[in-house]
Amino acid sequence: MSRLARFKGYRAGMAFALLAMVFVVTFGVMVGLIWVDQQRVIDTADRLQEKTVPEIIRYQRLARNLDQLRQEGERVFLATSPQARQQAMFVATLVASHPSVLEHPEAAAQARLAEHFLAETMRLAVLDDKVFADRLGEWQRLSSRLGLLVDDVSLQGINLATNDLGEVSKAIKLARVKLSVALGVVGLFLVLFLILLRVHMIHPLQRIDKALSNLGVDRPAPEFEQAAMAEIQSVEQAIGKLHSSLAENERARLALETLANRDGLTGLINRRHFMITADAELHRAQRYRRPVTIGMADLDFFKKLNDTYGHAAGDSVLRAFAALIQETLRQSDLVCRYGGEEFAFVFPEITLVEAARLAERFRSACANYDIRLGDGRLVRVTFSMGLADASECTLEVALSRADEALYEAKRRGRNCVVAAGGLDVSP
Ligand code: GH3
Ligand code: MG
Ligand code: MG
Repeated sequence: MSRLARFKGYRAGMAFALLAMVFVVTFGVMVGLIWVDQQRVIDTADRLQEKTVPEIIRYQRLARNLDQLRQEGERVFLATSPQARQQAMFVATLVASHPSVLEHPEAAAQARLAEHFLAETMRLAVLDDKVFADRLGEWQRLSSRLGLLVDDVSLQGINLATNDLGEVSKAIKLARVKLSVALGVVGLFLVLFLILLRVHMIHPLQRIDKALSNLGVDRPAPEFEQAAMAEIQSVEQAIGKLHSSLAENERARLALETLANRDGLTGLINRRHFMITADAELHRAQRYRRPVTIGMADLDFFKKLNDTYGHAAGDSVLRAFAALIQETLRQSDLVCRYGGEEFAFVFPEITLVEAARLAERFRSACANYDIRLGDGRLVRVTFSMGLADASECTLEVALSRADEALYEAKRRGRNCVVAAGGLDVSP
């Protein structure tokens, strides 16, 4: 027996519980990981709403103020009237000291520089009007630095949003991958479960079903491949036991049937069973209007044989005679030990005349047959036989007519066959 065959087999309940546990744990971990990602998305969205968006607005305001400072500075230089110049200078001062500018160190420094430069230019312009033309080049450098800062600040605002949105998108993508993996795990477990179910339950159950429907005493015991599951193994073993107990019952039934239906000495069927079988045969023949003949045979001077050779020798002769009958008669003929040294016959499908011919052949064979006794001596035995047509009467009537014919055969000197109704059947 292989190691696998000796393996006791696993309990299905435990195996499926284990599988379910692994599934629940794996699935739980996947759901947990997805939940973490979702939480990150929610956190980032909250931050975007509460912190990043106001921050972006602040950056935008700063960019707008710096841009306005640049434009106002431009206007200070390009204004056509002193009032317009004063007004532009006033707005530039306001914008440069705006809280959004002051709270950004770099912007505050640049704005202060620009404001001082403009204020200095305005102060110098009181003495000399050409100062605007002289300092325009320097202002343009300051203005372009301010312009660069505006771009920089705008970019910083955009970056803030981009970072948060990027984080959200990354978390969503990660969650999607994890969800796909979780679904894959579910699918894998489902496939694994179905395969296990098919291999270890459905297939063995189909084999069991087939074995049960083919179970019969006339068939060999079903053989199963070694099942992996203990429950299936138990059922298969139970089927094996069921088969052997069926076979045992059948053997016992056959033994009982033999005891009930057979004669113990000769092995021929007994009178009780003959009456049932012969009656059925007569009914069949009469229903289909087929010929059927009944015979009664009795060994001649059997008492004398017993007296001469002993009772055991008489038994041997009875057995030998029965064997000879079975060898000589057709398969379809029915014969029984009717009692003592009397035998009854049913010859289906043949008429009285044909049966007489058959009986005559048998009589002649028997008369010339040497029977070897236990002590080696040879004896011969003859019989007388009466025949009666049974195609139109009951079994009892046919038997009594055959018995009368037998009596007539004895009367005629024995070792002959007589047909009822005065039919001449002499050889
Ligand atoms: P007949 O030719 O007129 O038939 O003479 P018979 O001697 O055969 O007839 P009878 O009825 O007088 O004797 C039958 C004998 O068969 C009597 C009995 O001892 C014997 N017999 C019956 N059954 C058995 C048996 O089972 N074994 C043996 N050895 N003899 C049996
Ligand atoms: Mg006799
Ligand atoms: Mg007798």
